[in-house]
Amino acid sequence: AAPSSPDAARLLARREAVFADVQEHYFEEPPLMVRGWREHLIDADGRVYLDTLNNVTSVGHAHPRIIEAVAGQWRLINTNSRFHYPSVVEFSERLAALLPAPLDTVFLVNSGSEAVDLALRLAQAWSGRRDVVAIREAYHGWTYLTDAVSTSVADNPSAIETRPEWVHTVPAPHRGKPEADTTMLAAEAVAEVDRLAGAGTPAGAFLAEPFFGNAGGVALPDGYLDAVYRAVRRHGGLAIADEVQVGYGRLGEWFWGFEQQGVIPDVVAVAKAMGNGHPLGAVITTRAIAERYRTGGYFFSSAGGSPVSSAVGSAVLDIIRDEGLQQNARDTGAYLRSRLEVLGQRHPLIGAVHGSGFYLGPEFVRDHRTWSPATEETRAICDRLRELGVIAQPTGDHQNILKVKPPMCFTRASADAFVDALDRVLTTGW
Ligand code: PMP
Repeated sequence: AAPSSPDAARLLARREAVFADVQEHYFEEPPLMVRGWREHLIDADGRVYLDTLNNVTSVGHAHPRIIEAVAGQWRLINTNSRFHYPSVVEFSERLAALLPAPLDTVFLVNSGSEAVDLALRLAQAWSGRRDVVAIREAYHGWTYLTDAVSTSVADNPSAIETRPEWVHTVPAPHRGKPEADTTMLAAEAVAEVDRLAGAGTPAGAFLAEPFFGNAGGVALPDGYLDAVYRAVRRHGGLAIADEVQVGYGRLGEWFWGFEQQGVIPDVVAVAKAMGNGHPLGAVITTRAIAERYRTGGYFFSSAGGSPVSSAVGSAVLDIIRDEGLQQNARDTGAYLRSRLEVLGQRHPLIGAVHGSGFYLGPEFVRDHRTWSPATEETRAICDRLRELGVIAQPTGDHQNILKVKPPMCFTRASADAFVDALDRVLTTGW
């Protein structure tokens, strides 16, 4: 098991001496990664791993066009964003053009946490209210505001009990079995929005991943967002879509998760994929909402959407277009999904395969009747896959769903290699 070289072990000890425990790493003994290439990671011993996990590096590790974009812009200028630069305007225009009307106004930031934080502040300024309705089992970031609305117990076991009083949660759409009755979920969320209004504390915002990434790549029930968005707007609040994980073409069929639900949010938060690992996030909203923020809020970010970050943002969009990566997510993702489903027919541990495109979630259960989560098994399977050269990790409150969200250049051969390795682990034990 990694880390095999003495160097890797020594460096891990040094990491542990200088980092706090809360700064976790994947695996008990993480491989020491020194390079990446497309959907592969290479450790200090030269061992190559298949990366099924990295949705941040959306166009692939070490993409030559990203390197060129970074170096080219750094050679010219990269400084404080209160001046005026061509690459920033060009990227912002392209980003706004990816969204439907009336979403036409862009704020550039450094990360997903900052984007969701700003989205919540925009809603507070718009509505004059602090109360937020959010879905349970979600992760939205680590800042004070975004941590408050993150209720994934996998990330924080006391997440639900420790919410501030202005955070109101509604059930997560994923309740295990794929055939579980989800028809009541929208009604429950609408009832909570109406209850708050009736109590004199109407929600300023409803916040959700429009396709539920953190719970394992689960589509919300049809009509869910339409019903809840209408309810929150009826009482003067805003609909916020956290597209940090699922947006940007990964779902294959849709560029944005909200398209799957046939709705248009008031505020969209984006990050991760848009920078391919370079710190870049954004909020896109309407002109009216952005203007209202001006009266009560303040916005300036020293490095958010810098000329270099914006050059990266444009390069990522060029690559997604030129290499047909959204189409690849749709086609290779469908192929991967069908192979996982076939595997599920032979291995009862696979209870369901959730997701779309390159956001897939094979869910491991001990028993199809009770749907009892195979949490320990999932961890052991990930460890065994790592030994076989495949990086995979669990997600969801029970940590029993693999978050399969590879770089979007993932090939059919890589899909086969992943499924074959998983088949081997499920057949020979973990
Ligand atoms: N929202 C979602 C849905 C996320 O998955 C994450 C990161 N895991 C964030 C927000 C926060 O993004 P960042 O780590 O870039 O701050």
